[in-house]
Amino acid sequence: MHDTDLDTDSTLADPLSGMDLYELFDALPDALLLVNDRGRVLLANSAAQHIFGYGENELCKLEVEMLIPSRFREHHRSYLNAFFIHPQKRAMGDGRGLVLLRQDGQELMVDIGLSPITLQGSSCVLVSLHPANRRHQAEQALRTSEERLLLAKEAAGLGIFDYDCHRGVIHCDKRLCELWGSEAGEVMTHEAFLAAIHSNDRLPYQVALEKAMNPEGDGRLHMEFRVINAIDNIERWIVILGRVHFESGVAKRLVGIVRDIAERKMLEKNLLAQRAEAETFFGQQVAVRTASAIAHQLNSPLTAISIYSEVALRAVQSGSIDSDKVKHALESCVTQAQFAGRSLHELLAFLQKGETKTEALNINEVVMAALAYARDEGSGEFTLSLDLQPDLPTVRANRMQIQKVILNLMKNAAEAIQVANVNASAATIAIRTENLVEKSVVMVTVQDNGPGFDQETVKHIFEPFFTTKPTGIGIGLPICRALVEANGGYLWVDTDYHQGARFHFTLPFAQS
Ligand code: ADP
Repeated sequence: MHDTDLDTDSTLADPLSGMDLYELFDALPDALLLVNDRGRVLLANSAAQHIFGYGENELCKLEVEMLIPSRFREHHRSYLNAFFIHPQKRAMGDGRGLVLLRQDGQELMVDIGLSPITLQGSSCVLVSLHPANRRHQAEQALRTSEERLLLAKEAAGLGIFDYDCHRGVIHCDKRLCELWGSEAGEVMTHEAFLAAIHSNDRLPYQVALEKAMNPEGDGRLHMEFRVINAIDNIERWIVILGRVHFESGVAKRLVGIVRDIAERKMLEKNLLAQRAEAETFFGQQVAVRTASAIAHQLNSPLTAISIYSEVALRAVQSGSIDSDKVKHALESCVTQAQFAGRSLHELLAFLQKGETKTEALNINEVVMAALAYARDEGSGEFTLSLDLQPDLPTVRANRMQIQKVILNLMKNAAEAIQVANVNASAATIAIRTENLVEKSVVMVTVQDNGPGFDQETVKHIFEPFFTTKPTGIGIGLPICRALVEANGGYLWVDTDYHQGARFHFTLPFAQS
């Protein structure tokens, strides 16, 4: 454009001539509102509609209060009155920011400028709005979210930790220190953290931690264990949830939360007690039904055998032996006895039908799973001694069945210890796994330092329905033996062991 053009440009001579003032108002990039002294919006430009999220004309006639969060409305009313008493240009917000409300309910931080205007004799105010400093807004949002997090953390009773794996120290919050009974302040050594964990849960925790720290895994730690508070000596159930952060394939930090789950554990314990009661009842019912099924199968052949035997006996006693009659009676006895035997086999075959699903198992993992289950069941007070041979060959077996066998042996051991009143600190259950290479089997030993058996008892413990317990059924050991045998192994008791009871079972290698 040439200078001459500019000089002759009529818009320069009188830039506002012919211009619609509303168009100018609407074209301004700053958000503007014209509000009267009763607090009603008379005009709003497009920028204002945009930042408040309203459509065209929706802002006009609206009470300006509607643009203010309810908690600030009271204050706003007195401010509006004060402004119209001494109307003068002023800037507000000055970096502190004021909070306004969008139509969608979101809050908006703005700095506000106010200019008094008189329109047709009535006082109005032109409000210009500038979104407040972004950093300030972000800080505010962060503070709000931190406050929310803190409230949620307190409501949920969460303790927070940040484990510096390299230096072996744990930065923790007040709640975690309370749970651990730590007086060391908010930095704890990993040794101190471990020391508070119940001795029977320490090893499983360390195994879980090692797994989480393995860069090939997902870095997650999730476990439940007991913590003995160093101050009040109270045992509490804790859940830990954490995530390991790796740097160049090395575990750097483990950050997470801990929570007291005593209440949940109590509920679980009650539930388990109810389940155990139901299981015992069910076991008794199964025993009664099985016995009556056997009685049913044997009853008629036994009656027949008894009648034929009597006939034969009478014939012999009478002195005049009718050999045909005696032969028939004895033959009938044999037939009935064979029938009874067949019926029993058929009944057993019926009860044993169904295939057992087997898989290659790491027996140490099955032992650990059984231990976790036993811990949850709260199977009494004793020290657990584990001697699990590493790198065992896998065995082929049904996981649930073998877990059940280990649990049953542990349950018997814990009950024996309890009945004998073995001092809680001396009571020990030891579990050992070992490789018997020459036999191509893995052997599991479960041993306790309870009262053991006398010579008579030990002869019967694998017999069905043999029990020395007031509420026992006597099917645990026979079932364990049947399960191990169904998986190709053997289960026996060590009769030479006299410091308690010692059971062994074997399972064949998955690949021999
Ligand atoms: P139950 O536990 O219902 O009695 P089991 O078949 O499991 O049935 O056990 C049979 C019996 O063997 C028990 O009643 C007990 O006398 C004896 N027994 C089993 N395990 C042990 C043990 N670890 N120490 C002492 N006695 C045991």
